[in-house]
Amino acid sequence: MDSRFTHSIPTLRCSNGKSENERKNGDEERMSKYSYVSPLCMSGGDGYNSYSTNSLLQRRVLSKAKPVLVKNIRELMINLNFPTYIKVADLGCSSGQNTFLAMSEIINTINVFCQQRNQNPPEIDCCLNDLPNNDFNTTFKFIQFFNEKNITSKESYFVSGVPGSFYSRLFPRRSLYFVHSSYGLHWLSKVPEGLEKSKMSVYITNSSPLSTYKAYLNQFQRDFATFLKLRSEEMVSNGRMVLTFIGRSTIDNPLHRDCCHFWTLLSKSLRDLVVERVL
Ligand code: SAH
Repeated sequence: MDSRFTHSIPTLRCSNGKSENERKNGDEERMSKYSYVSPLCMSGGDGYNSYSTNSLLQRRVLSKAKPVLVKNIRELMINLNFPTYIKVADLGCSSGQNTFLAMSEIINTINVFCQQRNQNPPEIDCCLNDLPNNDFNTTFKFIQFFNEKNITSKESYFVSGVPGSFYSRLFPRRSLYFVHSSYGLHWLSKVPEGLEKSKMSVYITNSSPLSTYKAYLNQFQRDFATFLKLRSEEMVSNGRMVLTFIGRSTIDNPLHRDCCHFWTLLSKSLRDLVVERVL
């Protein structure tokens, strides 16, 4: 927003003790810091090259994390004493059906657990979040399919889209009961600072200087701390999160081939295309 206009906004007090202007300025600062992420998105639609058609790996990740998801949902229900309403968010939902695999798992686990414990099932508010350029339309087309095939009880859930970066505030304070995010949190909010010596590659390679590794690590630590701080504002107490993202099994050698070989190949291919003047 143009700063001339922010000065004319009347000062109101918010419940967190900050003035409305202070809060707005903070939000704007965060938005401008992260604004460049908005053009990024997965390939939309459901064609041959779309994310929807090419996300089997991410589907496998979802299925591997399922036991952790189920355990945490059950514990959430017990800790919150079987609430009548639950707001659930899938952060970084992308386009296609994967988010509904996760959501249907959550909904079915809640409903079956309530049945087993002789409790009324809650109304479930399912909020699907991704960056604003995400193809939400393709995602929403799968609702019908999931209604028919995957959801055991159809009465009690409501789906909505929440466009925005999960490195900014997305939900009102103390409104979220359960946060799920799969294969998205390794997306950084921006290119790390200090990569001047790393012009020839798109990530860490096994010949990168240690400073390149540290630049990525610093950015991740900053982003993840921001993510946790924002979610802590949005979640109810005793809410739960299940976050699945890429990590590495050893930290002995941060430049080990395993963590970066794929990106090394991609860097080399991009360089070849530049030399051939294709890019
Ligand atoms: N959870 C999905 C998608 C994983 S791909 C699945 O399991 O298939 C990662 C998704 O995270 C992409 O759609 C990308 O647009 C989204 N993403 C990356 N950074 C984000 C951010 N800062 N805020 C919201 N979504 C983000």
